Amino acid sequence: MRTAECAVIWLAIQIASSGLRLGNSFVGRWGAAMQVQLGQIPSGAVEVVVHTPAKLNLFFEVLGRRADGFHEIETLMCPIDLYDTLSFREEMNGNLELECQWGLAASSRSGSGFEEVPQGQSNLVVRAVDLIRRRTGTTRGATLSLLKRIPTAAGMGGGSSDAAAALVAANLGWKLGLSMAELAAMAAELGSDVPFFLSNSSAICRGRGERIEPVRGLGMMYFVVVRPPEGLATVAVYGACRAPKSPFSVQPLLEALYRGDARDAGRLLFNRLQEAAEQLSPWIGKLGQTFAGEVCFGHGMSGSGTAYFGLFASAATARRVARRLLARGLGSVVAVRSCC
Ligand code: ATP
Repeated sequence: MRTAECAVIWLAIQIASSGLRLGNSFVGRWGAAMQVQLGQIPSGAVEVVVHTPAKLNLFFEVLGRRADGFHEIETLMCPIDLYDTLSFREEMNGNLELECQWGLAASSRSGSGFEEVPQGQSNLVVRAVDLIRRRTGTTRGATLSLLKRIPTAAGMGGGSSDAAAALVAANLGWKLGLSMAELAAMAAELGSDVPFFLSNSSAICRGRGERIEPVRGLGMMYFVVVRPPEGLATVAVYGACRAPKSPFSVQPLLEALYRGDARDAGRLLFNRLQEAAEQLSPWIGKLGQTFAGEVCFGHGMSGSGTAYFGLFASAATARRVARRLLARGLGSVVAVRSCC
């Protein structure tokens, strides 16, 4: 057996033992959320391709402000089937290079949320790979290619998801053998939402978002998501938000979802940041009114916005509503489903 073949099989074993299921063609699925493919290029180097999802916050409560300036939160996050794709290829010269572009035809990007994504050091992908290099002391290089589909400044976690994908890709591509716990610690350094994307399911996230409690068996959910023409900066939305005296609990929503009661779940969708975002952007109130006129179980803003979503009974209904909303010029619109 050639060394390269051994390396790929070794990687397969690593992946299997870290919770990824592999098919015959070395295609791995991290739960049904992050999907990892391993390939081999003629030089013998391993190429890692990671499809990494967006998220929606079905519940978001602010519990208080901490001494370190972060907010203590409780949120229920759900990965959805809208993916960015990160390709990682090892380079022997030690250089790190990122090429980043929108993975959508220009015509589909006439909506919003498809502004320039930072190249170089300020892209979270580069920061993630840099961090893993510093922590492990490796001097290896890589060519990274990022195909974006997740709108930015939307509260859909695109940058965080890309950072998590970069950690997974570098760990496999450079055969570092880091454990999930080690990756999760680096993820938390990169951003509050990054550890969630390493988990393989929906999750309740607490602390500043980095303490993950996986939640399984919520059943399939169908959403329409609109990213209006205006985005909001997370820091501005938190700044305009006050922690309540009596915070809401995620529990009733969770129980409704476990019962498969979408009607109740829709009623219980909640986001404490929404009122603050409504003061900062007229689009939030406008989208609230728009979804109130649709046959959805419930609706609300994701994270710090401005993406706004409704929960629907079926994929067909969601697709029909998405077409209608797109025609109304509200921004970019997608019909998606929960991916675990
Ligand atoms: P969250 O729900 O985690 O707050 P978000 O949708 O509000 O996510 P993003 O758009 O993913 O936030 O990222 C916020 C900012 O981070 C962007 O406006 C962009 O300038 C910067 N950024 C850095 N790297 C990336 C990346 N790979 N993809 C998108 N944005 C990135």
